[in-house]
Amino acid sequence: MSTPVFANYIAGEWIDSGKYIENRNPANTEEIVGLHPRGDAAEMARAIEAASSAYAGWASMPGPARGAILYKTAEILEHELDQLGAEMTREEGKTLPEAKGEVKRAINIFRYYAGEGSRAGGILTPSERDRVHTFAIRKPLGVVGLITPWNFPIAIPAWKLAPALICGNTVVLKPASVSPLSSWRIVEALHMAGVPKGVVNFITGSGGELGRAMVDAKPVKAISFTGSNDVGNWIHTEASKRRIRIQLEMGGKNPTIVLADADFNSAIENTVNAAFFSTGQKCTATSRVIVEDAIYDKFLSALIERTKKLKVGNGLEAGIDIGPCVDQGQMDTVLKYIDIGRQEAGEPRCGGHPLSDGAFAKGYFVEPTIFAGVTEDMRIAQEEIFGPVLAVMRAKDFEDAMRIANA
Ligand code: NAP
Repeated sequence: MSTPVFANYIAGEWIDSGKYIENRNPANTEEIVGLHPRGDAAEMARAIEAASSAYAGWASMPGPARGAILYKTAEILEHELDQLGAEMTREEGKTLPEAKGEVKRAINIFRYYAGEGSRAGGILTPSERDRVHTFAIRKPLGVVGLITPWNFPIAIPAWKLAPALICGNTVVLKPASVSPLSSWRIVEALHMAGVPKGVVNFITGSGGELGRAMVDAKPVKAISFTGSNDVGNWIHTEASKRRIRIQLEMGGKNPTIVLADADFNSAIENTVNAAFFSTGQKCTATSRVIVEDAIYDKFLSALIERTKKLKVGNGLEAGIDIGPCVDQGQMDTVLKYIDIGRQEAGEPRCGGHPLSDGAFAKGYFVEPTIFAGVTEDMRIAQEEIFGPVLAVMRAKDFEDAMRIANA
């Protein structure tokens, strides 16, 4: 079967630059899921120009009419749910049920914001002066730049696109290079739903080059970014120079606190789910579990026992709990932190190795890994790992657990 080639979308046209980024399946790196254009700064400038030209028409369209396009987009995505889920598993690695759940979330987001087209109003406030009315109404900003990460390749683009569009903004979306197909599918659905030319523009390519071009472009009045702390901080510094609106969702190092009076079995299930599902590649993943002293030993053994039962593998297969890391770079980061953890906390209590034999040979698989006796000063307790690695920490009581969580 020939490799599918996907184009960028500018001013309502599909643009193929002839230079590509390979989108490979992290569970089977021999499979190329698709080729996406390596767009450059000139293409970004054209996309921003298209969004700028389309703005007045889109902003003046009645909200319910914009909403109708978003409803139609949701309908198209829903019709393709099974295919979109499978594609997401193939490009990002998460299991099929997780991927389909994420597609459903994107559909719900589009429906929710479609309704806002009929609801979004303003407020009328009492005035201090006779015959003076004071009120506030929501107005669109203009061209909005959207930059998204690879780990939720359809939900995050959806939760940036739908609110921006329903309020009358036009957009340029730049998805992560590692998993561009799921967000391309939203743009395809918007196109099929009849979004006017230039209202939505989509460019794949290097984050550094396209990000710089977006941040510097005068017509861009706001940027919404989700991704790493380093890139988010850079966008904050650069975009602030033009005083534009900036929205940043960045990294996390989330704690789960388990106290002695917790529902024990549910605490185990919730911790395992939060730490390891989606391969721990979530900004909301639990990467530290802080356990009250009185149940620490019992909790640790049950946690290890439950974690050892998790099935790692290709997320398209039934019964798999944990898919691969998204790419070689992410797997290298995870393995680097496992080494750091070994030096800081000793041998992991379970996992701790890459999986490379047999069915694992062509993918970026790592065993779910637990370190015990982790203390606040350790790097594995402080730094985002973004993989299936969990640090177990001991707390004297609730106050101590909160202190550790906030450290
Ligand atoms: P990333 O490396 O920061 O990339 C995010 C996006 O920024 C990608 O589209 C990337 O493009 C682009 N980019 C890279 N360099 C850029 C630059 N100089 N200027 C502008 N854009 C640039 O993050 P990631 O590895 O994809 O995602 C993982 C991170 O996202 C983690 O830290 C995670 O915690 C965070 N995250 C946070 C949330 C949240 O809601 N808070 C949700 C999900 C993920 P390329 O792919 O082409 O490099």
